[in-house]
Amino acid sequence: MRIKVAKVFTETQVLENACVTFSQQIEDIAAYSSSGQSATKDEGYSDLPILDYSDYWLIPGLIDTHAHGAMGCDVMDASHHSLNTMSEYFASIGVTGFLPTTMTADKADICAALQQIHLSKVQGVEGAEILGGYLEGPFFNPVYKGAQPEEHFLDINRTDLDDFLQAAQGSLSSIALAPEQALALSLIPYLKQQGLRVMLGHTDATYEQTLAALDAGADGVVHCFNGMRGMHHREPGVVGAALSCPHCYTELIADGQHVHPAIMKLCYQLKGAEYLNLITDSVPSSGLADGDYFLGSVPINIKQGVARTAEGGLAGSTLQLLHAVRDACSWFDIDLQTALKMASLTPATLLGIDDKYGSIKTGKQACFTVIDPQFNVQATWVNGQQVYQKK
Ligand SMILES: [Zn+2]
Repeated sequence: MRIKVAKVFTETQVLENACVTFSQQIEDIAAYSSSGQSATKDEGYSDLPILDYSDYWLIPGLIDTHAHGAMGCDVMDASHHSLNTMSEYFASIGVTGFLPTTMTADKADICAALQQIHLSKVQGVEGAEILGGYLEGPFFNPVYKGAQPEEHFLDINRTDLDDFLQAAQGSLSSIALAPEQALALSLIPYLKQQGLRVMLGHTDATYEQTLAALDAGADGVVHCFNGMRGMHHREPGVVGAALSCPHCYTELIADGQHVHPAIMKLCYQLKGAEYLNLITDSVPSSGLADGDYFLGSVPINIKQGVARTAEGGLAGSTLQLLHAVRDACSWFDIDLQTALKMASLTPATLLGIDDKYGSIKTGKQACFTVIDPQFNVQATWVNGQQVYQKK
């Protein structure tokens, strides 16, 4: 296939009046002349069908590394239908890959969810691709529990970890933990050996404890500022460690509610687009109207799109990742190319899959989406297959 667009946001530049040739992978990216012919390389491609999106923009498929649910479906449902519904919804809003993220719950329920993520990853879903699972909890600190039910919190230990790893059957990408737990530091190297990304969250760790965890191999922090010890000028805390360590990946729920835009801008200025990772932390009611719902087993209420627990605490978001990218442009005073990177190439790099995913580049998987200049998604492709078309 060939797709003709007004602008394509490639890994290195924004190309105007461009034509992208692809099968499962991206084969060629070139400018085209007014006659519709590729100006640089047309031989061999001229008989391919052309999808004409000449008034639209082609952007890399977004990667959401922290998503609990959408459209009334929850990762904790442990059902293929739920994961598939999430996948289709995400494709319709410009996301081409995601990490289904578990909540703290009874151990058997977490294992069932991890097992289903593996099965659905192998079977395949019909929209955004499942890139792996994200175990968020139960190894957390009650002081910063957020919406995670503390009655199911566990102290990290090898036996429970191995049970989770076994349930996931190699499909687990990331794990979140509180590094101040007694065995956390000694188990981080083990988790790294298993190929996992280790993220620090729902934690009251000190600055020193956080540095020690990063030294032990932890990769970054979960939703920075939310569910963690904040930054004090004499005790920099988890936040101070995350922002001052150059190679610490930093998740940000960029909905303007969880963290003030001025603080998010500071995070960007300190981390740069290479280490700031925009996420949604999406709750099951994402994509639905305001009302009463559940996040795992926790009742939440959505009012004007903002999710809160009965105690009034924020409980994930209903944010669309593409809107976070759009708003980051004005909040951080950056161009769209840079904002896109924080929701595509940066998460792909964190997950170690940037050789195949995360940008529009010859040789990478054909995962991209067509938007209009108002950020409305028109169509989405995952690995060369069209999975969404706006009606
Ligand atoms: Zn969380």
